[in-house]
Amino acid sequence: MPTLVEKSSRSRSKICGLRRGPGRTNPSTVDLRARVKKMMRRTFEGAPAAETLGGGVEIAIYEHTRASNCLDASDESAYKDLFKVLQINLSRNPELCKAVVDGRLAPRDLVRMDPADMISARDSERTNLLKRRALEDVQVPQVPMDETDQFQCTRCKRRRCVYFQKQTRCADEPMTTFVQCRECKKTWRC
Ligand SMILES: [Zn+2]
Repeated sequence: MPTLVEKSSRSRSKICGLRRGPGRTNPSTVDLRARVKKMMRRTFEGAPAAETLGGGVEIAIYEHTRASNCLDASDESAYKDLFKVLQINLSRNPELCKAVVDGRLAPRDLVRMDPADMISARDSERTNLLKRRALEDVQVPQVPMDETDQFQCTRCKRRRCVYFQKQTRCADEPMTTFVQCRECKKTWRC
């Protein structure tokens, strides 16, 4: 029968064996990280320190996602997702990219940013416009009209729709016609 000391040391080694330290990194993770590093360098192409910046951002992504996940072959999604978000926003928003290049925004702070704050001014204007439009559509009064099979709903493919007109913006603008599906309540302009 094992003594208490032997028993506890054996269970401790079992726990350590499960831990994924840097020495136990999956080979596919190594490949993935190398690819991400290369793509990040390309994102900063033209900047004098593109090489360092690309590598620095990749390390920040890796460390940030590893803090909450054990990064191995089966759990790389958080790492990949964060990389995609950063790549898209860095390439679309020159100001964000410049802040990193100038050193005003450290890679470790970049990876912690809310994606909504990464969007450029022009993009956020467009997002607000889309949000306003979505709100407007919700506020359309539900005036019942005759059902028609003239329109097919793109969501549920049924032809049970009603349409109605509404004055949206200035009074001198023409009325906007809305169609609403009776089945799934999808509403669109036509
Ligand atoms: Zn529908």
